[in-house]
Amino acid sequence: MAVFNSLRRRASREGLAVYLVGGPVRDAVLDFPVANDLDFVLIGDAPALAADLAEELGGEVTVHTRFGTATVQIEGGRVDIVTARKEVYPFPGSLPQVSAGTLEDDLARRDFSINSMALPLSGDSPEVIDPHGGLQDLERRSVTTLHPGSFTDDPTRMLRAVRYEQRLGFQIGETALSEMKQTLAGGHAGAVSGDRWRQEFQKIFVEDRAAEMLLRAIELGALAAVHPALTDGQGLTKLAGETGLAPSDYLAALVVSLSAADGDGISRRLNLPADWARVVRDTMALKESESEISGPSVMTSKVCSVLDGLDPDAIAASARISQDPLVAERLHRYLDEWRLVSPDLNGDDLLSMGVPPGSKIGEVLRELNSAKLDGLVGNEDEERALVHQIISRGSWSPGDGGLLNGGTDGRPREPGNT
Ligand code: ATP
Repeated sequence: MAVFNSLRRRASREGLAVYLVGGPVRDAVLDFPVANDLDFVLIGDAPALAADLAEELGGEVTVHTRFGTATVQIEGGRVDIVTARKEVYPFPGSLPQVSAGTLEDDLARRDFSINSMALPLSGDSPEVIDPHGGLQDLERRSVTTLHPGSFTDDPTRMLRAVRYEQRLGFQIGETALSEMKQTLAGGHAGAVSGDRWRQEFQKIFVEDRAAEMLLRAIELGALAAVHPALTDGQGLTKLAGETGLAPSDYLAALVVSLSAADGDGISRRLNLPADWARVVRDTMALKESESEISGPSVMTSKVCSVLDGLDPDAIAASARISQDPLVAERLHRYLDEWRLVSPDLNGDDLLSMGVPPGSKIGEVLRELNSAKLDGLVGNEDEERALVHQIISRGSWSPGDGGLLNGGTDGRPREPGNT
């Protein structure tokens, strides 16, 4: 409200032509709570207005000189002010050529009619400016493009369309659907950079209905246009209806049924940062070895040896996506308990007991840890007994008659608590 009031004052006093645009106007008309992100269009110098606003309200300004836009961060909210502009796409999927324009130009460059309305901040009872029938489409609950070439100009709008459709409970209109088909048939999605696609995925991944959005995009063929392997919604179906998930959950669900080569291909296509590429890789690695940790009696140490070194986000996502409740439970227990287990004895204890320094210490600690995970040792005394047995065994390889295959007394034990 402080931002809104300040800009209204300036609009009335200084005659600034400034308008609230896009999402906030749409949401206000729908009587939805308006997000803390406000978008304004100014016929004039947006960075200068942003600087004045930041000074008055105590915010931080970031200026994007190339586009004549500025962002002000104020008290947990974000205000974007853009100088009204006109955009022309020289070829499908390219970045637009930008020049100064009128309010009408600025509304005409937008994606859908419901996002192409403006509310002037001057005047006593301002009315919504709606050149593209946004109010009617809000009433019809329809996501409608502004012109037939919209998806071809910018194929990322296909993902934007499913995002608004699923977020608002609308339908992508028939005309827009057939325009989308034309864009897909024309192969225009291939012209869009990985970074731009990834940004739209990121916007989807933080939505409550992200799984439904991605499933819809698969149904429409829009994801296959980004990468041909993105056709399977099995993992996503498991996430539908859930809220509060992490972006990595959706990323993992998208790739879980793919081959490693396709996973790598998607990471490259979307130019994923290293941590996301790791989620992709480790989700598929885990899927690949899932059979080793499924079934009724699996040693806890075995579960840990499969999971150690894998990305915790990929493990958490796999737990949500897995079709096998036993595997899901083991993944959760690994994250919550098992990966935190360590022996009571430490390296110094082992040295003082006669284990030679160097790599043997690590080997014995690992063997102790496995024994603890599997319930073969339950306290420090039992660990000491095990260490003495390892020393007397005289063999340092855990696989060579090690305790993983038998108990401290040499007899096989009950499996660990898995
Ligand atoms: P909301 O629409 O609720 O603000 P959002 O914050 O996720 O959702 P953004 O992606 O930030 O939306 O876009 C803000 C506005 O910018 C949109 O309402 C739309 O008018 C315009 N816009 C953003 N991306 C595009 C695009 N690719 N093509 C055309 N217009 C776009």
